Amino acid sequence: MRIVLFGPPGAGKGTQGLRLAGKLRIVHLATGDMLRAEVAAASDLGRKARDYMDRGDLVPDDVIIGMIKSRLKDVDGMVLDGFPRTLAQAEALDAVLDDAGLPLDRAVLFRVAQEELVKRLVSRAVEQGRSDDTPETVSRRMDVYREQTAPVIDYYRSSGRVVEIDGTGSPDEVFDRLESAVTGQVAS
Ligand code: AMP
Repeated sequence: MRIVLFGPPGAGKGTQGLRLAGKLRIVHLATGDMLRAEVAAASDLGRKARDYMDRGDLVPDDVIIGMIKSRLKDVDGMVLDGFPRTLAQAEALDAVLDDAGLPLDRAVLFRVAQEELVKRLVSRAVEQGRSDDTPETVSRRMDVYREQTAPVIDYYRSSGRVVEIDGTGSPDEVFDRLESAVTGQVAS
């Protein structure tokens, strides 16, 4: 199966994506995690990405598309978390998957109210110390999500692949909803 997870920062894509990939025995590909590893390793890619990430902006499409393409090679089942975030990325992904004859099965959108997101990000900042979980950067990342990533959901909606789930409640409750969303039928 090939699944994309969408949702604003703090929606739970990372936690749930990892768990879903484990359950389905497929790969979890999270571009944010890959980028943080590149930054930590001070690689060329990490140096290119760092300032964008610290500001809460998107890393340029060519950098991201190049990075993910190399990871998609020889993988036929995957949960994509944090990618695609722009229309250009969604089109590039479709092209790679079409070439491989492995179309995307589902795009899952996590719905979480704004106040709940802010609450979660504040506690994540304390627990994980992510440099982009400061109030200014979080607010920028929310704007970027609304402006650049929300239109990508409409792109998938037009081909009937989107399922929306309620992302509030306990992690187990959200996971049950996620599992039914990816294994059930998509309402047209
Ligand atoms: P995340 O962990 O998914 O919230 O990503 C953290 C940061 O990495 C984002 O705020 C962006 O700066 C960058 N990033 C992650 N994925 C992408 C992507 N698909 N396109 C552009 N930038 C990305």
